[in-house]
Amino acid sequence: MTNSPLPPNAGAPDRPTLSVIVPIFNEEAVIPELYRRMTAVLEDIGESWEMICVNDGSRDRSLEMLRDLHDRDPRIKLVNFSRNFGHQIAITAGMDYAQGDAVVIIDADLQDPPELIGAMMEKWREGYEVVYAVRSERRGESFFKLLTARTFYRLLRSITDVDIPLDAGDFRLMDRRVVLAMRRLREHHRFMRGLSSWLGFRQIGIEYERAERFAGETKYPLRKMLRLTMDAITSFSYLPLRLSTYFGFSLALVSLIGIILTIALRLSGNSAFAGQATTLVAVLFLGGIQLIFLGIIGEYLGRIYDESKDRPLYIVSMAYGFADVPDDPPPPVNLQEPHAVVD
Ligand code: UDP
Ligand code: MG
Repeated sequence: MTNSPLPPNAGAPDRPTLSVIVPIFNEEAVIPELYRRMTAVLEDIGESWEMICVNDGSRDRSLEMLRDLHDRDPRIKLVNFSRNFGHQIAITAGMDYAQGDAVVIIDADLQDPPELIGAMMEKWREGYEVVYAVRSERRGESFFKLLTARTFYRLLRSITDVDIPLDAGDFRLMDRRVVLAMRRLREHHRFMRGLSSWLGFRQIGIEYERAERFAGETKYPLRKMLRLTMDAITSFSYLPLRLSTYFGFSLALVSLIGIILTIALRLSGNSAFAGQATTLVAVLFLGGIQLIFLGIIGEYLGRIYDESKDRPLYIVSMAYGFADVPDDPPPPVNLQEPHAVVD
């Protein structure tokens, strides 16, 4: 085989070819259907596989259901967080535990059709190292969600330096090389799609129609969406910080003109711009602008603070199904492992 994407030890008996990572937060309504559809698809592909469910502090019966699945089918593995750490962190943990030569990240709610995994594998076999899924259409989502998502991807692309593809979510396949590289990025406020673009490698997108959520409600309320947006922007752009410089220069220019005008009017005998209202409005306006920029600096500062504390990204209370590390939370990150596989 020439130009094979597979590392030399591909298909080693102890390592599956494919790892599927599923973040789970209160998904009891979808777990049985997820298992049914996912196994059907993976059996069809015919490679060895594991499915790593990361239970992100669910408060419903998700954990029990996943444990049951694991007992019945050891290919279902389970990483149980000590509390809710968030979707992006759950994906990160999945990638720390994944053993496969190819690793797929997919939502639990079946909005990302598992049937696309076959097509992703094909692209991977052609030699692509990242195959991301692009949403050509989204069904069953509110107008608000569609509009904000659309704006979000376009805004992000216009203000950041990395080439983040439009309308691509976290649903993607990554070669093991990419996963090993990703493990070395340990920043706390993570925007995984952006990091995946930042890493580079041979990337390609394939289109799909995003389905409706199979059951249950979205676990991404506006609050979480806004936080993800802020993380994405601050991770990849200094533009908000620079805005204050631009604004300061523009305002200084305007006041310079104002000064010249005032002096000229005074010399020509007119008394210029009398009145408290003008002064008050100007002071309030500037005060507001200054507070906004203080807030922006605060957003960056808080993130620097979080990085400097250097806490672990997540805490695992229990992991099931990882042979070499039986019960206790294993050390998931093996930084000794070479980040690129040379063949
Ligand atoms: N999720 C998670 N932790 C969270 C929120 C969501 O692990 O704090 C998971 C959730 O179970 C699902 C995926 O992330 O598998 C995407 O969430 P959801 O479908 O609710 O987001 P949406 O599709 O509405 O953007
Ligand atoms: Mg969803």
